[in-house]
Formats: sequence, structure tokens, C-alpha cells
Amino acid sequence: MGSASLTVQSARDMILQHCQRTIGKLAVESVALLESFQRVLAEPISLDYDQPPFARSMRDGFALRTEDVQSAPVALHCVGEVRAGEMTETALRSGEAMHIMTGAPVPEGANAVVMVENTDRRSDRVQVLKPVRAGENIAPKGSERRAGETVLRPGRRISTLEAAVLASAGKAAVLVYRRPVVAILATGDELVAVEAVPRAGQIRNSNSFSLYRQVLNSGGIPLILDTAGDNLTDLRRQIQRGLESDVLLVSGGVSMGKYDLVEPVFEELGVRVHFESVSMRPGKPTVFATWKDRWVFGLPGNPLSTFVAFELFVRPVLRALQGLPAADLPVVRGLLQADVVERSGRSAFLPARVSSGAGTLEISPVNWKGSADVFGAVESNGLLIVPAQATHLTRGETVEALLFEDLAYANEVRL
Ligand code: AMP
Ligand code: MG
Repeated sequence: MGSASLTVQSARDMILQHCQRTIGKLAVESVALLESFQRVLAEPISLDYDQPPFARSMRDGFALRTEDVQSAPVALHCVGEVRAGEMTETALRSGEAMHIMTGAPVPEGANAVVMVENTDRRSDRVQVLKPVRAGENIAPKGSERRAGETVLRPGRRISTLEAAVLASAGKAAVLVYRRPVVAILATGDELVAVEAVPRAGQIRNSNSFSLYRQVLNSGGIPLILDTAGDNLTDLRRQIQRGLESDVLLVSGGVSMGKYDLVEPVFEELGVRVHFESVSMRPGKPTVFATWKDRWVFGLPGNPLSTFVAFELFVRPVLRALQGLPAADLPVVRGLLQADVVERSGRSAFLPARVSSGAGTLEISPVNWKGSADVFGAVESNGLLIVPAQATHLTRGETVEALLFEDLAYANEVRL
């Protein structure tokens, strides 16, 4: 493996190719419906009975025969009442109506429901004020889905309406793909814990926390390992520990420094490196490797490098390991709001704000000081993508941005 940089696309292709190996081999587990949210369905869901299971009234009103009310207003004889959860034996005859509640089964003989607002009830007489169409306010038996029909397919992430469908289908427990366990290993002699006050030359470890969050919102189970110093003993021990998980993310120690010892330890432990550099900014020294069926990433230590490399290269793997399409990237197009100069010659991913403008999205780079600057980047909700060959982007141009996962909740952007 040489040190030549791959394009972002070839690096992703290489990873996606490895992801192919997981197809048909993913572990599944059964979880209670309430535990299934954000998990990925591993079985097809079909209905055990017609939906609705009976001709259902969609209104509070009166079930009737439409031919009786063609010349409304007209009075009908009210012969009873049917509530949700009941079934009436009475069949409706000509000139009759039955008081009916939303969700109740429509009695035999009736072919429409007039809503209560269009009636006037006087003891056992009901005045119907307007004519009604046949079928009005009735959902026929099986009109939504038939018994045996598939209503959700495997590979579907279980969100809110999926929960309603699963409950309707009687799935108290569902088969889902197992969540991959992702070990997070920060490396660096300069790193101290969040609680500590850094002394001269030290900084707080922030990558473990941003990675933890990224793993969680990619559906993985994050596991933070003790920080390793820049020495072979620490690195050997912690990398070995990390290889017990499905995925190991090592942050730092993968650039060209004298104490960047992660790759030598990978080699020692038989971890196979597939690439060790990508032509991108930030995130150039990203390493992708495998060991047996484990996935290993060496992410460059700078906080934004780690963050961007995760979005482009790790997230696809976590998606594949859960039965989701790995290649999908949340990329949108919008109008660039400022001139951008980018001289790196690499694909750049620059923190930007994506917001909804007049009939289009607007993409505004934020004031960001480079790969270490989380304080500038925290003002962004996406990454402006500057293609490798572009050196200047002009305000007003249509450009692409990669959205962050949580964006759907940012109320300033309506997609
Ligand atoms: P490295 O990739 O180890 O050369 O690190 C590059 C830069 O990222 C250095 O300035 C490190 O101090 C910084 N860095 C490395 N790991 C972390 C971390 N876990 N949290 C915050 N900054 C880090
Ligand atoms: Mg380091």
C-alpha cells in the first residue's frame, strides 16, 4: 500500500465494496416493539387480518341508505345506535337510520354515513339535511390493506409511522438487525480528560465525545476505551482491546509525525490497511483497514478531520452492518451565499449553514479556522462540498452540501 492519495469517491467505493460482504450475513435479534425505534427491520411484515377489518364509519353520524335521502331534507326512523368496539346484528331497512360513532362497524344494509353536523335528531326521528353519496364516510373492509399483504419490507428503519404499522400488524416483538458495537480509541500524549484543567501543552479529548454521538446517531453502540498514549505498549493493548468490537475507530496518531504509531501497530497485529490517505480537506490521513471480520479506521486527530472522515467513510459501514443502503449520502443542492477560494487541490468539505431561501436552499460557509476549529464549525449544519478541481466558487453558484444527520430537526431548514 503506497502513500498516494485516493479520491474521496474511490476511497468510498473501496469501503462500499467491502460492505458487499455483509449482505445476507448480518446478525439479527428480536426486540420488543417499544425497543425497536431507530432499529432496522430484518423481516417482512404482513397483516394478519384485513385493514380495516370491517366496514368502518369515519364519522360520528347516521348510517343510512342513500336512496332514502336523494330528496333531502328528509326524515328517517332511527332504529338504534352502534358504538366503536360493537357489532350490530340489526340490518338497516328502507327508511331507517342508525346512530353511529367514528370507528364503529357500519350495519348491514347501510351504504353511507351522514355526519352528525348535517342532521337534526328528534327522539326516534332524524332529519337528514343533505343528500349523501354512496360510500360516503365509510372505509370498506380491506380498503387499506388485505390480510397477508406485505406492509413493511426488511431494511426499513423503524420510525414513528412504522411503529403504528407494526402495532397494527400485531408485532409486539420485531426482528431487527443487530447494532454494531463501535470501540472509540483516542490517542495522544497531549490528551487529558474533560474534567481536567489542561497544563501547558495539553488539550482536552473532544473526539471521543463527538465520535460517541456520531456512532449513536448512526445506530451503533459506542464504547469509549481508555485513551492511549503515543507509545507502542499503550497502543498495542488498546488496539487489541478495540479489535474485540465490530468496528474500531482510532483517532489521532495516523499522520506523518515521529510518534504517529498507529499504523506500525496495525501492521504488527495483522490489521490489513486498504488505504491510508484520501485527497480531501479536512481528513487527508484517514486510514481504512480490516482485521478478520472487524472494521478498523484510523481517523486523523483534528476534531473536524475526525468528524468529516466519519461522515464519509464510517457511517456507510455502520449503515451496511444494520442492513441499510451503505452508499446513501444526504447531499442537497443550493445557492452559494459567498465566494469561496479553495487552493488545496483536494476535495474540500467546509462547514456551512444550509437554510431555506426563496424556493431554494441557501448554503453559507461559516467562519471556520480549519480542521482543529470546533468553535467555528459548531455554527454549521452541513458541509459545503468543493470538488477537487475547483479553486474558486462564486456567490450565486449552485453547489452541493452534505447535511448532518440531525438536520431534519433544525427548524430553520425545511426540506
Ligand atoms: P494527530 O492526528 O495525532 O497528529 O493529531 C492532530 C491534531 O489533533 C493534534 O493537534 C492533536 O492534539 C489533535 N487531537 C488528537 N486527538 C484529539 C482528540 N481526541 N481530541 C481533540 N483533539 C485531538
Ligand atoms: Mg497525536
